[in-house]
Amino acid sequence: MASAYKRILLKVSGEVLAGDQSFGIEPDFLNAVARQIADVAKDGVQVAIVIGAGNIFRGMAVAADGTDRVTADLMGMLGTVINSLALSNAISRQGMKSKVFSALTMPSVADSFTARAAKAALDEGFVVVCAGGTGNPFFTTDTAAALKAIELDCDVLLKGTKVDGVYSADPKKHPDATRYETVSYDEVIGRDLRVMDTAAFALARDNGLPIIVYALDDKEGLVGVLNGKARSTRVG
Ligand code: UDP
Repeated sequence: MASAYKRILLKVSGEVLAGDQSFGIEPDFLNAVARQIADVAKDGVQVAIVIGAGNIFRGMAVAADGTDRVTADLMGMLGTVINSLALSNAISRQGMKSKVFSALTMPSVADSFTARAAKAALDEGFVVVCAGGTGNPFFTTDTAAALKAIELDCDVLLKGTKVDGVYSADPKKHPDATRYETVSYDEVIGRDLRVMDTAAFALARDNGLPIIVYALDDKEGLVGVLNGKARSTRVG
């Protein structure tokens, strides 16, 4: 594969690991995601990953029931640690070295995240899984993905979704919506196109980080996204 990218950051939403269940981790889906990541890494691309926790816990939903938001968000971030351990282990089982770095310090569970240590691990050929989001409440793992991509000098942030790119309007509600091949950060933010949260796009814009939005179920897989065979939108 001739990837134009040397180092990528992949954002995986928690829901992907649940597959067709509403909660938890479904082994077939976990292994399918791990295989796609390992395939890219085996081709020599350095891969960092940020994973969400929508399959376990979302702070905002629970805060609405009365738990204070800071506590609820800590619970959400802990959910990302669980997913990160599962995904990193599954990647190892696909034959690629992988290491978890956590933004929440928990030395008996994972190495503490520093950009320096994570970059060194990438250079040594590890797939790096960044757990614990940004380490702060009131953020999302989309924002963590943009932040880590910038901190780790990644060439691009890849965001897999249920649709194959960014559309002029929600394609489920507006069948005549059209898909952009490329679109600017300001257009995505200004038109509130909601593929990632605004904080993530603003961070990417201010630091010149391109984002590729693609369909998780594209038959070309992650390899196809990187070599331009899969349909996608480039935000930049
Ligand atoms: N979270 C947080 N700070 C962060 C990242 C995540 O507090 O920097 C919490 C927040 O409660 C969020 C949950 O972790 O709802 C899971 O993350 P997210 O909703 O982004 O997961 P995804 O939708 O990608 O599965």
